[in-house]
Amino acid sequence: MSFVSDTTAPVHPRIMDAIVEANAGVASSYGADPWTQRAIAQLKDVFETDCAVFFVASGTAANALALASITPPWGAILTHREAHIVLDEAGAPEFYTGGARLLLLDGPHAQFTPQTLDAEAARYARSNVHGVQPFSASISQVTESGAVYEASEVAAISEVCRARGLKLHMDGARFANALAATGATPAEMSWKAGVDVLSFGATKNGALSVEAIVCFDTDAARQLPHLRKRSGHLLAKHRLLGAQMAAYLEDGLWLRNAGHANAMAAKLAAVLESAGGECVHPVRGNAIFVRLDAPMAERLKSAGVVLYRWAPDGPDVYRFVASWATTDADIEVCAQALAAA
Ligand SMILES: *Cc1c(COP(=O)(O)O)cnc(C)c1O
Repeated sequence: MSFVSDTTAPVHPRIMDAIVEANAGVASSYGADPWTQRAIAQLKDVFETDCAVFFVASGTAANALALASITPPWGAILTHREAHIVLDEAGAPEFYTGGARLLLLDGPHAQFTPQTLDAEAARYARSNVHGVQPFSASISQVTESGAVYEASEVAAISEVCRARGLKLHMDGARFANALAATGATPAEMSWKAGVDVLSFGATKNGALSVEAIVCFDTDAARQLPHLRKRSGHLLAKHRLLGAQMAAYLEDGLWLRNAGHANAMAAKLAAVLESAGGECVHPVRGNAIFVRLDAPMAERLKSAGVVLYRWAPDGPDVYRFVASWATTDADIEVCAQALAAA
């Protein structure tokens, strides 16, 4: 059994069925197919606005292209030092922007405050030709430590962005989990709070391989078709991306999956805490970061649970991520293993 990541979960059967259905016969390529068009229309409904939508096959591509659409090569992107775009994308944001610099901010739970953002942006005057020019800020929602920004907190960050002339990107690899945690609507958590470009995740929450760049900024929207093609991310058999996203959004499957994953994480956190584990970050989404003593870790391992050390929080902290596919039986295995003490 593995709680290592939500990427270890299978594809949701409804999404797999949709792929198989869309695979019948010929269809227009490069996004001109009915599945893609339908998924784009669904996203406009979901976000209650006429956004521009671009599908890609990975979250790294979504983030790097989104950032490239709002940051020139001589620009800088302000973000948290533990952000996925900093630690887990092998320099893709720098590569796709043509060399923009990441400026790293501090803050607990992989979150930064408007004040921290403002102070760092203030260090780089726009008029100084010798320094990089801050053009954008990027926040992760849910964060890499499992924390969630409330919509009001996003709005406060975007206010600083407006004042400093920055565009705001949200890495929403787990956007659905953040909505399930806060009860905010997709619109409230994005453009109404001042987000310009959103990486809207689906892969971790039941899809096979599709993420949407949801663009609320018209300048960025004009560049994204070309950025995507130039980087090799305009898939020819695009209908298989569109079909995944359409099925993901159909009847609110995406929000049900995320709600389930969050609820399972809360249950598992309660099991681990009652056995003596200590959660080192607030459990809001589907990820738990918990300090376990050696006997606890051993008992879980003996029960067949694959453990994943989370080094940034210390040698005895482990990450557990629940998914749409996590069952009560999975959590019971952990409970039994720990109760056997
Ligand atoms: C998983 C993840 C991504 C996307 O990763 P890919 O492996 O490229 O799909 C982006 N941001 C965050 C915060 C993630 O956890």
